[in-house]
Amino acid sequence: MEVWMLLPALVGLLWAGVLLAFAAPLAARWREPVLKHPVLIIESDDWGAGAVAQATALRRLAALLQGVRDAQGRSAVMTLGVVLEVPDGARIAASGCAEYHALTLADVRFDGVRQAMLEGMQAGVFAPQLHGQCHYWPAAVMAAAQTDGMVRGWLAAAEPAATEDLPSHLQSRWVDAARLPSRALPAAAVQAAVADEAQAYQAMFGEAPQVAVATTFVWDDVVEAAWRAAGVEVIITPGRRATCRDATGKPACVDAAMLNGERSGAGQIYLVRDVYFEPALGHAAQRLAQGLRQRTRQGRACLVETHRFNFLRAAEASFAALDTALHQALQASPDLRFMTPLQLAQAIGARDPGWVESRMLPRLRAWCARLDEIPRFRRVARLSGLALPLRLLGGVS
Ligand SMILES: [Zn+2]
Repeated sequence: MEVWMLLPALVGLLWAGVLLAFAAPLAARWREPVLKHPVLIIESDDWGAGAVAQATALRRLAALLQGVRDAQGRSAVMTLGVVLEVPDGARIAASGCAEYHALTLADVRFDGVRQAMLEGMQAGVFAPQLHGQCHYWPAAVMAAAQTDGMVRGWLAAAEPAATEDLPSHLQSRWVDAARLPSRALPAAAVQAAVADEAQAYQAMFGEAPQVAVATTFVWDDVVEAAWRAAGVEVIITPGRRATCRDATGKPACVDAAMLNGERSGAGQIYLVRDVYFEPALGHAAQRLAQGLRQRTRQGRACLVETHRFNFLRAAEASFAALDTALHQALQASPDLRFMTPLQLAQAIGARDPGWVESRMLPRLRAWCARLDEIPRFRRVARLSGLALPLRLLGGVS
């Protein structure tokens, strides 16, 4: 037998070795459900207790979203990551910054904001989700204020504070970041806080929170279990879970990575939000259609992160960019569907045949399109020649 006749067998062995070396991430991407339709969800955090100017912004957003409809006639949906409390600056100042006092979303001064949220929910364009009672851990902010004049000024401000102005590490609710690196909070304190805020959320919106998104995406197992006890069934993630703030204040201690449809230890369904559209930071409208196209190739929903600051600070340009982006997305993907994260998670969890693909070829194509994101896999696939058959199936570039 000639040596060259062994070549196909050797190549086959090489490819099998590559596939084996990356077995875990490859298998996870095979298990991840493949959606039959393009899905777009706009996710917007930080709304609630705070600037009263939010009322106008929310009404304008609701009108904008109602003006954009998918082929089924469903209007665009924006989630509202809700914050239920800000500091009561006047009372904190009166105590000489020795005591924490809160202004909750139930306060009469936030009537307009609350009303605008509820109207948008009734119109089917807003879907609230739990972001937190406050966008910080009060004891941590109070402790930081003892040595940080800026934090003290923020806590004691006369107008309802903008949580976006706090140092980033103090915006994490589920760690004690008064000093860095952060420390874990006592489990009992987390459990009590989650139970309380779920109750406040229910009083505000008439139902327990079913979807939660941790402030600054820092949370852990204790938080997930407490969310579960409070009724939370879906967790919005950036695809990884940071559980602390490091010595420089950055989110760190990443202890888990997740794909859409995977379950938390407490049993919730994870969804991944990883397209960033912040017009106030200069993101162009095309970003949304591009993100949607790529997620659709991967058989995934496109969850887009856009914070409230866009619609309060560079408002005119942001409203225009969102409107343009939604219309561009519809034009680029006429089969596009709008839905809420809860509906998406339920469809994925039930493997609903109306939403989740079961045919082999579309699943294989979506799987191939997901492989580029696996660290080092693309390079190894290229070097080994495995990229060629994968590319033929529509994947690795
Ligand atoms: Zn936030």
